Amino acid sequence: MDPEWLAACLEDTSSRFLPFWRLNVLIKQQGPALGWARRGLLGLMDEGVGAVLLGVRDNIAHFAVDISTMAEPLEQLGLGGVAEFCDVRSAAVQLSAEDCAIVAQGRALVDWHDTHRFCARCGAATLSVNGGAMRTCSSCAAEHFPRVNPVAIMLIVRDGHCLLGRQAAWPRGMYSALAGFIEPGETIEEAVRREVMEEAGIEVGAVSYHSSQPWPFPSSLMIGCTGEAISADIRIDEAEVEDVQWFSRETLARVCRGETRADELFIPPPMAIARTLVDAWLADD
Ligand SMILES: [Zn+2]
Repeated sequence: MDPEWLAACLEDTSSRFLPFWRLNVLIKQQGPALGWARRGLLGLMDEGVGAVLLGVRDNIAHFAVDISTMAEPLEQLGLGGVAEFCDVRSAAVQLSAEDCAIVAQGRALVDWHDTHRFCARCGAATLSVNGGAMRTCSSCAAEHFPRVNPVAIMLIVRDGHCLLGRQAAWPRGMYSALAGFIEPGETIEEAVRREVMEEAGIEVGAVSYHSSQPWPFPSSLMIGCTGEAISADIRIDEAEVEDVQWFSRETLARVCRGETRADELFIPPPMAIARTLVDAWLADD
């Protein structure tokens, strides 16, 4: 990245800056819309994180800016009653898919910069370079890049039923697709088979990829798969899950139509990839 171009963008009054405060994003109540600000915001940002380039749209550079060191940001910005800082999940239900992707990108990068201020190799301070695309060590020159952690999430099916589980900490009645981090040296297919065997004791045969979803808590990529079970008897690992059950098409169709009581059985909302997998399975009758 050309450092002169980047410096000019940071000076340009047409550039846009999206404030994040303690990982919450600024949302204007009118719209609602993302709370893009002008370059005056740079005077308030956390110097250790710096402005993070998100991209260029219509020849205008767009940045994320961390202002977490401010005590009362809405009052200090004069935005009380006009805007608010929202966590990403509540922002996601108010914004377009495109704006949600910008929030996910900004949150993940701001969080990564905040938690990588020191070199993992030698412990010296790191510096943001290339508009926040990486950090370099001030002592040993090691280069550190933002990373994405792959998570496999899978809908396992057999004889008109699919396998859903729940964790004890979840709201009462909530069930979802099983999921787990992909481990070093594993393929996606192997991770699906291992997770389902560990959590539910079910053997899985064929696995296929369906779709994916960024999950910036803090920086995962959910890789949605379907798999065919070749055994049926559930044996749960109580350390990982509270319950796992086979659910019929008829039951899940009723859940998706809102015909069941939420405290008895509900599944994640349409924006979640687990729901996408269930909806696709129900549609593929
Ligand atoms: Zn170092």
